[in-house]
Amino acid sequence: MEFKLYDTLTREKRVFTPLDPANVRMYVCGPTVYDFAHIGNARPVIVFDVLFRLLRHIYGAAHVTYVRNITDVDDKINARAAEEYPALPLNEAIRKVTEKTDQQFHEDVAALGCLPPSAEPRATEHIAEMRTLIERLVKAGNAYVEGDHVLFSVASMPDYGRLARRSLDEMIAGARVEVAPYKRAPMDFVLWKPSKPGEPSWPSPCGIAAPGRPGWHIECSAMSWKHLGETFDIHGGGIDLVFPHHENEIAQSRCAFHTPVMANYWVHNGFLQVEGEKMAKSLGNFVTIRDLLRDWPGETVRLAMLQTHYRQPLNWTTNGLREAQRTLDLWYELTGDAAPGLLCADTLDAVADDLNSPKAVASLHELRGEAAKGSKAAAGSLKASAQLLGLLQETASEWAGFRPASISIDENKVTALIAARNAARRVKDFRESDRIRDELAKIGVVLKDTKDGTTWEIAR
Ligand code: AMP
Ligand code: ZN
Repeated sequence: MEFKLYDTLTREKRVFTPLDPANVRMYVCGPTVYDFAHIGNARPVIVFDVLFRLLRHIYGAAHVTYVRNITDVDDKINARAAEEYPALPLNEAIRKVTEKTDQQFHEDVAALGCLPPSAEPRATEHIAEMRTLIERLVKAGNAYVEGDHVLFSVASMPDYGRLARRSLDEMIAGARVEVAPYKRAPMDFVLWKPSKPGEPSWPSPCGIAAPGRPGWHIECSAMSWKHLGETFDIHGGGIDLVFPHHENEIAQSRCAFHTPVMANYWVHNGFLQVEGEKMAKSLGNFVTIRDLLRDWPGETVRLAMLQTHYRQPLNWTTNGLREAQRTLDLWYELTGDAAPGLLCADTLDAVADDLNSPKAVASLHELRGEAAKGSKAAAGSLKASAQLLGLLQETASEWAGFRPASISIDENKVTALIAARNAARRVKDFRESDRIRDELAKIGVVLKDTKDGTTWEIAR
C-alpha cells in the first residue's frame, strides 16, 4: 500500500518515507493549559490521533513515537493563577492551574477516543534545553543579546519564510510586529525575555543577570529535540501555527543543529469554524469539549469531526452531530458485540491517502450496506475498519446506555411505563399500548421492539 501525506512546506502530497522505519517520529503542538479546551482545539488532537493510528498500523505500535507538548508557560496561565489562587505563592498557583487543566484535557480527549501520545513533555521541565539552544544560537551568530532579551536574527537565515512562503516585507506588513527598542530588525523574535514582577522566572542564559522566561517558539524546538532528535518525520498543528510559530521553530532548530530540515512533513489541520469564523476563546464563539460531551457520546463528536477532510475548514453544527449520531446508531446496531474482522482495503487506502476520512467513512457506509444484507464478514470488517478511525470502540450496551445530561429523564418512570405497555400488549389492548408509546414520545423517549424485548433511547 502507498501512504501519502500533504506537506505544507513543499505544498504537495508526497509518498511518506520515514527517516527510520523502526522509530517513526511525530511532534504535534499541544494545548496551552489554562482552561477547558474548546472543540476547535480538539480538531488537531483527533486528526493527529488518526495519523498516529495509521502509522501504528503500518509500522507497528512499538515503532512510532508521538510527542504532543503541554505549554505551561503563558500569560493567560499567570493571569488565571493570580485570579483563582490569590493567596498562594505564584509558582504554586500556576502549578495548581496547569495540573487541573491538564487533567481536564486528558479526560476530554480520552472521551473523544484519542490514544495517549508516547510522551507529553511540559515546557517548564525543559528550560535547561531551551537555554542550551539559545546559547548555541548566539554562538553561531543567529541570535543576539540586547537589554536582557535574547532575539533571533531573522536576517541571519537566508531562507527564513519558506514555510509560510512570504517575503520579509510581506511578513512585516502582514504581522502586527512589535516594535521594540531591543530589536535590531522588526521581524526578529524573542527567544528569552526578562520576567516582569509576578511572572514565573528562571536563571537566564548568555550571562544575563536578571532572571527571565523563554519565548513561546523555543519551547517546541527544545522539546522536539529532547524527545525526537534534531530532525524527525512529521510536525503538526493547526494552520494558524504555520506563521509565525512553525516558521520560527524551523529557524531555531535548523540554525542550532545546522540541518537542512527540522521535519520532513509539515501537516496542518484547517480551522473549525462557527458561521464562517474560526472558533476561538478570544472571539467568544466557542463551545468546550466538556459541554459537548454532556450531550453527545465522544464517538459522535469524533465522527462529526472526521466527516470533513482535515485540511478543509469545518463548519461545526448540531446537524453534523445528529447525522454522526444516526450513523453510529446504525453501525452499532449492525455490529453489536461482534469481534473485529478484516480491515477493509478501501478504508485503509482512503486513510493512507492524506487522511481522507470522508472517503473512509463512505467505505464504512458500504460495509454497513453489506452487513445489513446479513453478511457477518462485512459486520466484522465494519468494526475493524471503523476502529482505524478510532470509532466503534465501545460495546453495544455502553453505546445504548448513553444519556445526554441536558435531557433529564426519569428512568424508573420509563421502565414502569414500558412494563405497563407490555402488559397492555399481552391482553391485546393496543389503544392503551399506543397511548403509552405516545406518552413516552412526548418526553423524548423512543421505543424499539426487538425479539429480545423492548429497549428505549432518547430521540434527537
Ligand atoms: P492553542 O491552545 O490556541 O495554542 O491551540 C492548540 C491547538 O489547537 C493548535 O494546534 C491550534 O492550531 C489548534 N486550534 C485552535 N483553534 C482551532 C480551531 N478553531 N480550529 C482548528 N484548530 C484550532
Ligand atoms: Zn509548537
